[in-house]
Amino acid sequence: MSGKHWAPGTQCVTKHDHTKPKAQELAFHKGDVVTIIEAVEGKGWYRAKHNDTGEEGLLAASALRERGAIRANSKLSLMPWFHGKISGVQAVQELQPPEDGLFLVRESIRHPGDYVLCVSFAKEVIHYRVIYEENTLSIDNEQRFCNLIDMIEHYMKEQGPICTKLMKPKPKSGMKSAEEELAKAGWLLNLQHLSLGDRIGQGEFGDVLQGEYMGQKVAVKNIKCDVTAQAFLTETAAMTKVRHKNLVRLLGVILHNGLYIVMEFMSKGNLVNFLRTRGRAVIQTRQLLQFALDVAQGMDYLESKKLVHRDLAARNILISEENVAKVSDFGLARVNPKGTDTTLLPVKWSAPEALKHNKFSSKSDVWSYGILLWEVFSFGRAPYPKLSLKEVTEMLEQGYRMDAPEDCPATIYALMRSCWELEPGKRPSFKKLTEKLQKELKHLGAV
Ligand code: ADP
Ligand code: MG
Repeated sequence: MSGKHWAPGTQCVTKHDHTKPKAQELAFHKGDVVTIIEAVEGKGWYRAKHNDTGEEGLLAASALRERGAIRANSKLSLMPWFHGKISGVQAVQELQPPEDGLFLVRESIRHPGDYVLCVSFAKEVIHYRVIYEENTLSIDNEQRFCNLIDMIEHYMKEQGPICTKLMKPKPKSGMKSAEEELAKAGWLLNLQHLSLGDRIGQGEFGDVLQGEYMGQKVAVKNIKCDVTAQAFLTETAAMTKVRHKNLVRLLGVILHNGLYIVMEFMSKGNLVNFLRTRGRAVIQTRQLLQFALDVAQGMDYLESKKLVHRDLAARNILISEENVAKVSDFGLARVNPKGTDTTLLPVKWSAPEALKHNKFSSKSDVWSYGILLWEVFSFGRAPYPKLSLKEVTEMLEQGYRMDAPEDCPATIYALMRSCWELEPGKRPSFKKLTEKLQKELKHLGAV
């Protein structure tokens, strides 16, 4: 098993128990997650850090496997105990046989908008009305919660006004606990090891905070609304399938405050701000080309995994400390109600067939990539300056395309134009774009 090679930072899952470590070895249980620090000279050993205990030590490669991908699966639920609109009688049946602390949540039929927490205790089922008021949920009108996930998390730790601490969720039939599945696959991180710092950005669905996880700088996206969190979770599955130097890496998730999505930290922020704050005087053409190439390579990889981004734009490209551009928000784009409501699409980045017929593909991503190229070579200007969304749509149909940005190399403008072919099949693939940009960079090096 020394055939596998794991790079530093790779998250691996242990295959068996190792509870009596020799000196310098790491102790672990089957299913624990460790972070690779480095390969040890010689054969098949690694130095790694245990994600729960924080201890460092050596372990054999044969004891490790890489984390598996989470399959996008609508049965995976953040709220497996949520049974929707069932009656009180049905709830009682669900909570058989009796077991202290067994619980579920249902929607109130009598009071639409409210919920009912049903708890088994002393062979009876007790129903607590959860009142929804002023955007918060409460049972006793004192403790208020943003969402059901927070409420359940709280009453699993503290009894409060309830007859017993909540002990065991009764899953809705067919539903799998996202928490369990994520933990099994090795994608669930430990809240205790996360420390949160300043807010570094504001996303559409929640804040992005800087943080540290086991000594590693991270960015954390917090999605508070439970419905959105559930949708994000399904899409986060896409992020567990990919690993590439030009895609922002997912470290894992934590089910707390809704959902924390923990990603590698990209210290230089998004590409639009990077370009705008530095500008022509500082950034050379070589750097612009390198960014363009980075993005094309990340997208080529996504295309090879049959993943469509749908929201490719310079604002969704992030820059690392070493000036590497990486694509973010992939797989998450579909969560966006934008996908269904065409009036909310990022119009100026969207291909005509995506706008008109909701037809998204890698080729519609290529169109967006052309717009991104334009943004890059105009140092972060907003595309189609001075045109309204309506004008853009109409003029594109009549064959209008943006002019080249000031001082943009002719070859690069030609690439943009090829991305903006009306017929998707005529646009280049990301592989082709990668090749052309590589050539361009070489050429620049030669002169
Ligand atoms: P949304 O797509 O939901 O609007 P983003 O993921 O684009 O939110 O994040 C908003 C901003 O937060 C970004 O423009 C960027 O400045 C910052 N940000 C997001 N993710 C990271 C990260 N991994 N590292 C550093 N900054 C980030
Ligand atoms: Mg974004």
